[in-house]
Amino acid sequence: MEVTASLYAEGELLRYARHIALREIGGPGQARLKRASVLVVGAGGLGAPVLMYLAAAGVGRITVVDDDTVSLSNLQRQIIHAEERLGMDKVESARIALAGINPFVAVKPVRARLDAASARAMVTGHDLAIDATDNLPTRHLLNAACVAARVPLLSGAISQWEGQVTVYDPARGAPCLACLFPTMPAEGLAPSCADAGVMGALPGIVGSMMAAEAIKLLTGAGRSLRGRLLMQDVLWGENREIALCRSPDCPVCAGIAEERA
Ligand SMILES: [Zn+2]
Repeated sequence: MEVTASLYAEGELLRYARHIALREIGGPGQARLKRASVLVVGAGGLGAPVLMYLAAAGVGRITVVDDDTVSLSNLQRQIIHAEERLGMDKVESARIALAGINPFVAVKPVRARLDAASARAMVTGHDLAIDATDNLPTRHLLNAACVAARVPLLSGAISQWEGQVTVYDPARGAPCLACLFPTMPAEGLAPSCADAGVMGALPGIVGSMMAAEAIKLLTGAGRSLRGRLLMQDVLWGENREIALCRSPDCPVCAGIAEERA
């Protein structure tokens, strides 16, 4: 603790006491969180708990990217936003909420929609990227950028009463998104939350699992979801796990060498 004390501002360390008390995190793990830089794409339903828990956990730097504004139909589930911030950019609303949770986190709001040119630059310099988006084109752009930069991509998705979480990381043996879905689905085959509906607490459950996974990845605690897809069916109170493998023919990651363990 003495070794890392200078990392923290005056009076900051006490707020992390319950993480430091955990054997799997401790002082060294908390210091890894403090030194970490995380990119969160999407400040909606999944982004809300991800951003709030990562800020509360003392992740040092968080970049949040979204191009949307807060609307009334968001508030049923996007709990980082608030009635008085209707119409505000979601990234600015998120920044305000996170400053209220932990003023010692450097939050960089980026109002933008990822495109192929910006995605790579956005990912560079981050230890972990988190896909909290709601559409496949953005997921694929982010995936390609993360593969090229060898940055792990923690990805979550929700629809109606079901959600899923996994970690794409071909540089460390796990598949990338394109290993599983090499082509985009036809228009209309992947309905949005606006069309299909979504139960309000679902992004809270799935996004909290993502936040926990991010804390594990950044601190090295436990067993990660690399190569495993965790699926939650909240309507029936069930969950399942599917093992995932890299595709040797993947159009995105086939040439990526794996690190030696
Ligand atoms: Zn791949």
